[in-house]
Parts: sequence; C-alpha cells; structure tokens
Amino acid sequence: MTTATCSLASDPAAITALAGRIIAGDPCSPAEARELLDAAPGSAAAEALFAGAQRIREAFVGNRLRVCSVVNVKAGNCSENCSYCAQASGSENDGYKRTKWMDSEEIAKATESAAANGAKALGLVAAWWGIKEGTQLDMVCDTIREFSQNGKVRPDVNLGILENQRCADRIKEAGAAVYGHNLETAKSFFGNICSTHSYEERLKTISYIKKSGMGLCSGGIVGMGENRDQRIEFAEQIRFIEPQMTPINFLNPLPGTKLGHIPPMDADEALITLAAFRFLLHDRNLMVAGGKEVVFKDRLGEVFKTGINAIMVGNYLTTLGTAGEQWRAWAEAHGLEFPATCEELPGSACSTGACG
Ligand code: SF4
Repeated sequence: MTTATCSLASDPAAITALAGRIIAGDPCSPAEARELLDAAPGSAAAEALFAGAQRIREAFVGNRLRVCSVVNVKAGNCSENCSYCAQASGSENDGYKRTKWMDSEEIAKATESAAANGAKALGLVAAWWGIKEGTQLDMVCDTIREFSQNGKVRPDVNLGILENQRCADRIKEAGAAVYGHNLETAKSFFGNICSTHSYEERLKTISYIKKSGMGLCSGGIVGMGENRDQRIEFAEQIRFIEPQMTPINFLNPLPGTKLGHIPPMDADEALITLAAFRFLLHDRNLMVAGGKEVVFKDRLGEVFKTGINAIMVGNYLTTLGTAGEQWRAWAEAHGLEFPATCEELPGSACSTGACG
C-alpha cells in the first residue's frame, strides 16, 4: 500500500503549481518526481498528479496518440539471460513460437497486420546479444531494405547491442529510421536482471545509434523488484540520453522466467508512476508498451489519464496485445486523436522490454 510521506505527495495545490512551473519552462527535479511517486491512490493529490500530467502532455507533445507495433524477426534461444524474458537463456517458458530469421512472405504478412492495427511503424526485434559485422550484419541490412520497399509501415529496428559505429551506420544506410534499445532499469538495479552484458554496453550502443543519425527509442521495464528511488534513477538517465520515444513496460511475470514469481505491479502504483514520469520527462514521447494488460486488466483505458502519448498495439513478441479498435475507443474517450502519423515524428518507434 502506498503511503504519503512528504508534503508534495499529499499537497494537490503544490502538485498543480509544479505542473504550471514545468509548463512555464522550469523542469521538475528528480527529487520532486520521487516525492510524486508517494501520492496515495484515490487521494486529491493523485487526481492533481493526473490532471497535471495531462496538462504537461498537451503543452509539450500534444494530444495526438502515436501508435507502433513490433514483430519478432528472430524469436527464442537467446544467448542473454535477462531475468524477465521468456526468450532468455535459462528460461523454461515455452509459451511462444521460436523462429529463425524471418523470410519474405512473413515480412509481408507482418507489415499488413501492423498497418491494419493502425501502426505506422513496425519494430523488427531479434532475440540475441546483438549485431556484429560480417554475414549477420549483411542479412539484417537485406531485411531492412525489403521492409523499406514494402512501403506499408516504416521499418524500425530493435536488434540488441551494436559491436561498433560501423554497424549503426550500415543499418541506417539500409533504411532504418529508428533504433530501439532500452536502458531497461536503473544502473544500480541492472545487475539484478542481467549478467551476460553490461549497462555500459547498452549506453555505448545508444551513443552509436545517436551518432549514426537514427532516432533513438529507449525506455525500460518497471515492477521488476526495483524500489521507487531506482525508478526515478532510471527515468533521470532516460532524460539524460534524450530518446525520441520512451516505452515504459511493466513486468509481465511469465512462468518459467526468473522473475516469474513477482506479482504484477499494482494498477494504481503503475498509473502514478507513469504520471510522475510525465512530470520528469515533460517533453519526451512516453509510450505504454508491454505488460499493460496484465497490470491494468479492465482499467487499461485509464492509462490515458497519466500523460502518456503513445501505445504499442497488436500481437507483440511473446504475449498478446489488445486490439487496435479498443485502443481507438479509449483514446478518443480521453480526447486523444488516434492514430497520429509517425512520419510527423521521427523516432516514434518501438522498443519493448524483450528484446532491446
Ligand atoms: S530481452 Fe532480448 S537480449 Fe534479453 S534475453 Fe530477451 S531476447 Fe535476449
């Protein structure tokens, strides 16, 4: 149960004033965002938080919803040991289809399905460590070119760690506009969820992506056992790397994974977390991505009150998503346009918790 422990978390007028201050150009500090996480569900402070988050969204990123989708171009048997992931090395989850690198017919089907769900961009996701120069990079670039020529949705990629700058440059040349690569969590918590690669490798990959000129999609997963301080540490790092899109995933504790025993995050806590992230990341595009159906259940439509301005739709990765039409109804009920075109927003791509 969440408890109000400080003045900001229990002071609706102060929260409303903070939102006004952010809109006037004075950003929220990490300490203030941390206090916001302690707002009690159902309190007047929580209502002020949601109202403020929507005002901030409208002021900085507008009310047009961005919609993206992802497809696994290579699923399963990953070398990495991310503890939340069904595809990880050591995972005993077998509730999804393992696939080799996708062929042309499957590429055509995936783009049609994404377009039918309202997505303008499709993230191509592969379960592996990442990309090295040589035949692997050649194969990846050929696939990206094929997606580009299809023309139905924009091909974005989420292909793990990059060996060097040349890999990023070649992927951009092949036609990828955006590279998704999550920070996953706070640096201080990363060692708890993965030991086969480091946080520093992730940051280095992000620097290659930015230098190549591709847009950056980078966020992470909450509800993996990190504390509230670490949630703000994570969001602060996201603010520092300045991604064009930040997907926030919620842990979906899949049986057979190392985090399968952790209960899904409380829906109220998840809503307050999203709204506090909007205060701290006032001018970023914030997406609700994986795990939302498990956390919010029949309250899924409430995510729009938190100041998010993007969603992941369709059947993604190893779990099923919610139908595009249902999202449209919820978005429009909250005064959001659905969908906006991703072309207007370079970098509105996809990076879910697995992989990336
Ligand atoms: S998140 Fe990606 S890198 Fe990590 S285990 Fe899953 S597929 Fe592999």
